[in-house]
Amino acid sequence: MDIAALNGVVQAINLTKQLAKAAFDGKVDADAKTKIGEVLEKLGDVQDGMFNLREDLHRLQLERDDLKKKLDAADSWQQRAAVYKLTQTAGGAVVYISSDETPHYACPSCFNKREIHPLQDNRTARGKFRCTGCTAEFPIKPQSAAVNVQPVAQHWNG
Ligand SMILES: [Zn+2]
Repeated sequence: MDIAALNGVVQAINLTKQLAKAAFDGKVDADAKTKIGEVLEKLGDVQDGMFNLREDLHRLQLERDDLKKKLDAADSWQQRAAVYKLTQTAGGAVVYISSDETPHYACPSCFNKREIHPLQDNRTARGKFRCTGCTAEFPIKPQSAAVNVQPVAQHWNG
């Protein structure tokens, strides 16, 4: 039963209650008045039940809409995530790599938060890429020879 059907039933009960009230207020004997009074009381109970039912239905519909949104979001994330897999790069970093038409590495930390941030090349000799989402850096490429010389130079300086 949906809200519209429920509202129809609530209206029918209201109408029945009005008719019973009119009969109660009319010229009827005491015995009939007692019976009509009982009918009115029962109708009141039914009315309360219908109001509760309508509230429950409304709450359930909100919950359903909320779940549907979550499900849609999960579906679209599954689709986006499907083109990525974990890989270890030449520099030793473990990151996600895409298999779509513009291959790129993606930040594993952000990926776990369901965000995809392609890693950007710092263009330094250390071979690191950075995430524009969380600013983490990853050793994607091996360090170049120029950097490997540096510790020796430091040794000479004491
Ligand atoms: Zn990140």
